[in-house]
This record gives sequence, C-alpha cells and structure tokens, in this order.
Amino acid sequence: MSFETFNFDPSIMAGVRALGYITPTPIQDKSIPPIMQGRDIIGIAQTGTGKTAAFVLPILQRLLPGPRGRVRALIVSPTRELAEQIGEAINDLGEQTGLQGLAIYGGVSMEQQVRKLRSGVDIVVGCPGRLLDHLWKGTVDLSHLEVLVIDEADRMFDMGFLPSVRGILECILNRRQTLLFSATMPGDIRRLVQEILHDPVTVQIGRSAPATTVSHSLYPVKQHLKTALLKELLNKTRTESVLIFTRTKHRADRVAQQLIRAGYRATALQGNMPQYQRNAALAGFRDGSYKILVATDIAARGIDVLEISHVVNYDMPDSTDAYTHRIGRTGRVGKAGDAFTLVTGEDTAMVRSLERLLDRPLEHRTLKSFDYTKSAPAREYIRTTRQLGRRAV
Ligand code: AMP
Repeated sequence: MSFETFNFDPSIMAGVRALGYITPTPIQDKSIPPIMQGRDIIGIAQTGTGKTAAFVLPILQRLLPGPRGRVRALIVSPTRELAEQIGEAINDLGEQTGLQGLAIYGGVSMEQQVRKLRSGVDIVVGCPGRLLDHLWKGTVDLSHLEVLVIDEADRMFDMGFLPSVRGILECILNRRQTLLFSATMPGDIRRLVQEILHDPVTVQIGRSAPATTVSHSLYPVKQHLKTALLKELLNKTRTESVLIFTRTKHRADRVAQQLIRAGYRATALQGNMPQYQRNAALAGFRDGSYKILVATDIAARGIDVLEISHVVNYDMPDSTDAYTHRIGRTGRVGKAGDAFTLVTGEDTAMVRSLERLLDRPLEHRTLKSFDYTKSAPAREYIRTTRQLGRRAV
C-alpha cells in the first residue's frame, strides 16, 4: 500500500513527501478511505501510530476545492500542546494547498487569535474552553463547518470537558462529518459516541495496549530514594531524550530542579506554568536543548518527540490507560524505546494490572551500584508522604 492509492491532490502529496512519509501506517490505511467517502468514523489506535495524518490528509483533500477563509473543519483537542502539534501537522502537510490552520487555546492572548481568525482560517484546532469563549463572543463562526474531529476523546471526557464538548456541539447546526479518535475506548464513551456519530465505521488498530516496540522494567525503591535512584539510572543508561512523569505538579518542578542541580539539561512541564513557559519547555525538549523533561500527565498524550528513548515513571500512573499513554511517548512509529517505572510497596496492585495488560510478568531490576539501604532524612520523608496523596495535572 502506498499513499498514491488514496489519489490525494498533488499539493497534498507534496506535504506527504516533505514529511518523508513513504507508506501509510495501519490506522491511515484503514481510516483514510472511509473518511474520503464522507463516513463518520471511530478510530481506535495506539498512541504514535500516525493518527493525526489519518484525519488531516482527508480533511485537506475535502477542503481543497471549496471556498477559502471560512472555518470548514474543526478539530477539538484536550491539551494545548496537542492542539499546537496538530496545527503544525496541518500547516506542514497542507503547506502547498494554501489552506490555513490555526490552533486556539487558553493561556495566550485572545486578541491575537481573533485577528488571525478574521484574516481567514479554514481549519481550527481548539481546546474546549477557549473554543467556547470564541463561540460565545461570536469570533469563531461554525456555520460553514463540514468536518468535526474529536481527538483523544477519552482524555477529553476524563478531563471533565464533556459539558464543553456538548456546548461546542450545540453551536454546530449543520450536518457534518464527525470523526472521533481515541487511544482507548471505555464502554461509557462508546455509548456516548453513539449519540453524536451517524452510522460510524469503527477502525481499530490492535488492542489498547502499550506500543509493542517498548520494553518495560520495574525498579523497586523506597519513596525517599527515588530521586537518587533516578540519577543513578540516568548515569548508568545510554539515553537520547528522556521523559519523566511525576504524580504532582510540585514534584515535577522539584525533580527537574534536582536534576538541574546534578548537572542535567532538564526542565519541567506542568499545568501551573504559564503557557509561554510550557511552550518554551516543550520547544526546548523537541530541539534537544533539554535532554530531560519532567512532566505531569499533561504531557502524556499526543506529545510527539521522535527521539524520546526512555520514559521514566518516577511515580506509578494511576491507571493502565495512563500507563499506555505515558509509554506511548517513546517507541513511536516503529522506533525502540524503554520504559522504566520506579515502584514502591504501594504500587503492587497497579503492577499486577500492568502485567495483566501486557500479558506477561514485568522484569524487576536493581542497580548493583546503588545503596538501597540509606534511610530517609527526616524532613524529606515528611514532605514526600504529605505530597503522596495530592494529584494534579
Ligand atoms: P501521531 O500518532 O499522529 O502523533 O504520529 C506520530 C508520528 O508519526 C509523527 O511524528 C508523524 O509525523 C509520524 N507519521 C505519521 N504518519 C507517518 C507515515 N505514514 N510514515 C512515517 N511517519 C509517519
């Protein structure tokens, strides 16, 4: 199978070639034809499988012949980073088409977005909150909408965006093609999508499990020794870019600071940071200025940095779905990746769930060079136990 079989316009094929895509990925293979026929679809695919291009390419093809400068496609995305990334994919793949994409999300100037919208945009990628602000102010007009994409739908629903998504749906009065993508598809969401999709084709690539290109290992450790073990692991392992997940925003900052003090090129990414800092952290991680990004689950979805060789769960995620998404940041599009998870005695139940998900026992590793017997400094112990309960994105 090659991209030629889809009969995309030469201007779109130029974008495909510019990004170096040779063969379509399985999700592209299976979902592009029904999308081109105008069908609604539910796309279920593992992270990093190329699902962005699976919907962006047929949207570009559909919008190519019609009038320009009005919003004819809308992609709703749960996080700002993902919205920005999809916006970039539209502009890269669609560079020769003349179609304009714009990512709109909160935390940055609304005025600037309004100005860009006024100058004529064909495809909007938006996070639910800011999108609703624009709709209420009348600065986004969806009366010409032809295609609606709900990306990372399960995440959207997890994050409590359902009322906003419904609000957005109420603003779309005309008949449209609806595409819903999600890496996981719990039953309640399946039921819900039946309300908003019309006779959908379901395209499922593999089961909802971590990418098969990733190896998984557990590092048992006491809570207070996690940072010390992390440093030892980083010392002993040959890595490219490393993405480290913590449970709380505070801890993401603290671990990043500890790594910086230890001489690593590290930065944090968490939801309390102003948007410009979030963008700078991610951009620095992408271009290699930072080799380590310490993040909360805000970074678990969608973030696409091909060179991530290792994902480290400093804290165990709170569900197997969250594990799948975190781990999906490495091993992307067939590359190999390693996932290290630091586990304490409290994580036994999650370890069992992960082993069920992966259908095999997980390797427990210890580092010979590391002193596992060190006791906790009194202050540090109190701090870590106090923070254990808090969770935030
Ligand atoms: P996604 O799952 O959409 O986040 O895509 C993951 C990565 O795969 C991105 O870096 C895409 O540019 C890349 N990608 C998407 N489609 C293809 C393809 N057909 N061949 C090679 N890389 C691709």
